Amino acid sequence: MQRRYLVAGNWKMNGSYAANSALIAGLKQATAEFGAIEMLVCPPAVYLESVGRELADSRLLLGAQNLCEQVQAGAFTGEILGAMLTEVGCRYVIVGHSERRALYGEDDARVAAKFAAAQAAGLVPILCVGETLGEREAGVTEKVLARQLDAVIQACGIAALTHSVLAYEPVWAIGTGRTASPEQAQAVHAFLRGEIAKRDAIIADSLRILYGGSVKADNAAELFAMGDVDGGLIGGAALKAADFLAICSAAQRLGK
Ligand code: PEP
Repeated sequence: MQRRYLVAGNWKMNGSYAANSALIAGLKQATAEFGAIEMLVCPPAVYLESVGRELADSRLLLGAQNLCEQVQAGAFTGEILGAMLTEVGCRYVIVGHSERRALYGEDDARVAAKFAAAQAAGLVPILCVGETLGEREAGVTEKVLARQLDAVIQACGIAALTHSVLAYEPVWAIGTGRTASPEQAQAVHAFLRGEIAKRDAIIADSLRILYGGSVKADNAAELFAMGDVDGGLIGGAALKAADFLAICSAAQRLGK
């Protein structure tokens, strides 16, 4: 099936009012050219509202980098409810990014709860999965990925994947400049799609699986050309309009 490419920028903990405005202005100059794909920016939470206002007359979509696993407002200091993200205009939210897993102790159960909370608020979760270098070298990549994916399927049911996006982000490739080869990415994406197909072939076929990990203007096209790669989750290269647009261009040219 034809799956529409999604190119998502994860700004991580970067930005300021001035830097965000300059970046959005740069992106907006070109977005009309990208009719075949979806483009998403995920700024830090404190800037969601102002960035959302600047995106108002563009095709760029707004997403968040994280949310609370709770589904009701309450005494959870420092946390952000999914409904709050929806209210400020978010359509997507990243869950289970490896930095959240590694630095903030988010285990599979919490990631699954966040996935459910996102959907309860009407957001589309972008579920990140990925193995560390040690896990890859130990030959347990598929085992790790299956465990991360299964936690969500067990908690939310296979049908929940219909309204979600999966992102394969090998931890060893994030922010390291070391990208998975197109063949490595394709092999893992095919494995993930196959795991889902065992439960539901239709959902597996329509699910978008993004690749993330040092995607740049000069490697995006070869990655996106792989049959099971449906776009990218972009970190560092999402902070410069020209770089992000060049990556979007690669997806647009391949336009499924
Ligand atoms: C990310 O932050 O999810 C990411 C893939 O970062 P980078 O593109 O910088 O490797």
